[in-house]
Amino acid sequence: MVEQKESSSNLLKGKRLWIPRMSYGGAKTFAAAFRSIGIEARECPEADVRALELGQRFTSGEECFPEIVTLGTFLRIAESPDFSPEKDAFFMPTAGGPCRFGQYSPFVKSILNRVGLGDVKVMSPTSKDGYKDVGGHAGELMRTAWRALVVSDFLRKFLHKTRPYELTKGDTDQAHEDSLNDVCSVLEKRNIGHKQKLVELVEAMKRCRDRFRRVPADYSEPKPLIGVVGEIFCRLNTFSNDEMIRRIEKYGGEAWLSDITEWVWYTNFETFKRIKKEGKSVSLEMLGNVIKTKIQSNDEHAIFNVIKEDFKGYEEAEIKEVLEYAKPYLPHYGALGEMVLSVGKAIYLYHKGADGIVDISPFTCMNGITCEAIYPRVSEEHDNIPIKNFYFDGTQKDFDTATDIFIELARTYGRRKKTKRMLPFYFGKKVGVSS
Ligand code: SF4
Repeated sequence: MVEQKESSSNLLKGKRLWIPRMSYGGAKTFAAAFRSIGIEARECPEADVRALELGQRFTSGEECFPEIVTLGTFLRIAESPDFSPEKDAFFMPTAGGPCRFGQYSPFVKSILNRVGLGDVKVMSPTSKDGYKDVGGHAGELMRTAWRALVVSDFLRKFLHKTRPYELTKGDTDQAHEDSLNDVCSVLEKRNIGHKQKLVELVEAMKRCRDRFRRVPADYSEPKPLIGVVGEIFCRLNTFSNDEMIRRIEKYGGEAWLSDITEWVWYTNFETFKRIKKEGKSVSLEMLGNVIKTKIQSNDEHAIFNVIKEDFKGYEEAEIKEVLEYAKPYLPHYGALGEMVLSVGKAIYLYHKGADGIVDISPFTCMNGITCEAIYPRVSEEHDNIPIKNFYFDGTQKDFDTATDIFIELARTYGRRKKTKRMLPFYFGKKVGVSS
């Protein structure tokens, strides 16, 4: 049993912390991780027309769409009758780097100031300061938060690989919701050590695995597999991408969506590169990063171990593999950020037997624009696999026709493709129905 000291939750103690809904599951489990150290956290509600209106009112049109959605959602929360600037706080991580993401947090703070909400606390951890706002609980939170991201990624993958085959609409969404609640009830537990929490999380993932296995589904024929890459917020946030994954499913495809942990592995890789470049290969900083990466990897393997049979053919790439695939187009030593991951992952998915690649990006996103310029060559050098960019900015467009046509293209490619898709054990039959 681990004794927790209340005093070290300092700056956020007694606050209600709102976690942006980059992905629904990720925000929900991340909030549970905060609750495990005594901070009342919850995921932001899904954005809506009002949130978009508020976000657009305080932006000039030059900002990235994820920033508009996040700001609008915060302002929407601030409109609710029980909101109080003393009690409520927003979580808005920040980072340096080549694109506009680093501006999100100061921008949100300046708008809150402008609308008279300058007293609202905005928690903005960076890769450098970690989670100093939670004082002595920082290390504990980071470990649980990592596990929260890992399990939410796996549950989303379960959702996307089961839902296209379900026999009764809604069954898989229900299994996903029940599974999120299941893992959250473990993640949010207080006063248990990391070892015990991992044991309980692994048990919860076994229950989740069985829950998805019980969904009545027809796996007689695999559907066209569409790899989905792109800007991290837009590809994961269902409001921002206008439910692109469901749309792919509606037209007969199955989506493999790039997950959140990919970004964490990438930033770890970049940190190692920076430390070496600074001539500190033998240093405490290097040792700290080696240990952190090892712990993260061990946690992920322990969780993956109980679901790996169900993910045969759906294995995620090691980050070095993704960077290697991207190298001829965007070498990691010359290019930075999501464009490198999107190109590398698209090629990885080609090798996994995908029938098409969709890139989801906000309108004017520099990553999406760079990738769009590179994809024709990527396609040409990979058997002419269909690749299509979709851009989103909250205005209504006819995504249905474009998706329908794209899935048809993917089907045609699938009939002549040279790469073979590996399928898990449940393919080729109906499951969860009495014969
Ligand atoms: S990745 Fe694209 S959308 Fe995200 S902050 Fe950078 S430019 Fe904006």
